[in-house]
Amino acid sequence: MEKHVLSKSTFIRGVQCLKSLYLHKNRPFLRDKLTAHQLNKFDRGHEVGALAHKLFPGGENCAPHHPTAYRKAIEKTQQLIQSKFPVIYEATLQAEGVLIMADILSYHNHTWDMYEVKSSLKINQIYLFDISLQYFVLNQAGVPMGKAYILHVNEDYLYEGGDIDLEHFFKKVDVSDEVNGLQENIRSMLNSELMILEEKKSPSISIGPHCFTPYPCDFMGHCWKNEPLDSVARLHSISPAERFQWIKEGFSTWKDLTIQHFENELLHAEIMARSKGQPFVRKEWLTQKLLELKEPFWVFIIAAENAIPLIPGTRPFEPVPLAWGISEGQKEVISIAHSAMERNPFELFINDAYSANISNHKTLFTAGPRSLSLLKKLFPDHEVEDLMQWLWSPFLYFPFGWDEADPWLFAAQAGLMDVPPEKTSSEKILRKIQKDIKFINTNHFKELLSTELSAMQSIFRLIHQMIN
Ligand code: SF4
Repeated sequence: MEKHVLSKSTFIRGVQCLKSLYLHKNRPFLRDKLTAHQLNKFDRGHEVGALAHKLFPGGENCAPHHPTAYRKAIEKTQQLIQSKFPVIYEATLQAEGVLIMADILSYHNHTWDMYEVKSSLKINQIYLFDISLQYFVLNQAGVPMGKAYILHVNEDYLYEGGDIDLEHFFKKVDVSDEVNGLQENIRSMLNSELMILEEKKSPSISIGPHCFTPYPCDFMGHCWKNEPLDSVARLHSISPAERFQWIKEGFSTWKDLTIQHFENELLHAEIMARSKGQPFVRKEWLTQKLLELKEPFWVFIIAAENAIPLIPGTRPFEPVPLAWGISEGQKEVISIAHSAMERNPFELFINDAYSANISNHKTLFTAGPRSLSLLKKLFPDHEVEDLMQWLWSPFLYFPFGWDEADPWLFAAQAGLMDVPPEKTSSEKILRKIQKDIKFINTNHFKELLSTELSAMQSIFRLIHQMIN
């Protein structure tokens, strides 16, 4: 059996951009490092996949024990298919140079139905390409195929404790028509990908919105390195689609933009800040905002957004506080919801907030979108502000720090604090906790929380100085 050329993930990479596929296969050393956020997402996929197997109990798992052991996995899958074994997990097969592992195959009415599991709340076009490729390979491998389904997470599912109610946790969507309709596209896409890989040089493909969708490409460090700093393509405050549309219309650099473009106040703030290399401030606006604030109540939260809810009363991806630092100026509380979650972390967090006198404060300041939505839900009578959103807003814009909006990292970039060598961002902390929950109980982790709180307060002092 010849070694496969493509897998499901490399095929999808090629659907996004043929150059990305070529570089991945031939120049992998040019790849950027995966961010902690991307790695966290990847881990989430595995957990949901294992849960979906329980919907089809008694199956045989054919996943190779090692990436090089795929031949054995294929043999096992073929034997199970020939014997019409009722359920196969990770059915591993190869055809037309592509190796696939179908999440679940179920024998039904003399054909095989396939189920692709996704740890997301919605179906998108790339998922349809993904399942269509697998269906294509299974057909080419001689498997009599039946229906094609996507199993994804139901956003309305409410966890009530105990075992997950699988029938309600998953949504089953019949995508057989879409999959059948895409089979010709898959064949021609596959031909293009295989042809590109025969070439001596990488294809000449320019940067564009495809660098961001459906996934941020991990060759951006390479492909974007010669893009001028004042290129419209590098703006943060407008969408990639809009940036490249403007470039198409002839507006390549910031200086090409016209008064109409600057009606977007956020874009105006970004360009003012980045062209001068210093923060842009609308003093009246910022002064007014600061005047409206009473003594802020500081909250830094490490929150998890699990696809599979752990806490009764929560839904998939609802932020759950794992650990937090609270400060109201004089008093600081650092707490950790115990790893085993033997007490409801929401109750622990609310107790801490009240014991730190949250009732005496009108405005809660936090950092990051997860914490923002969590606090808005738990304290609807308070005003909640995301400090990090202030830093890149129409009234205040810093010309750095967008990439990893973590208070400590930002404070270090602003020269307010040192960054110790072992500095980790919130996403990295979350990843450490996900890999080893014991990390949450370390002193080092408590220090991180306390430093993040101090970082938020020093950033706030810096903002105050800007109106004087
Ligand atoms: S950065 Fe853009 S152009 Fe380069 S390989 Fe990735 S998607 Fe293609």
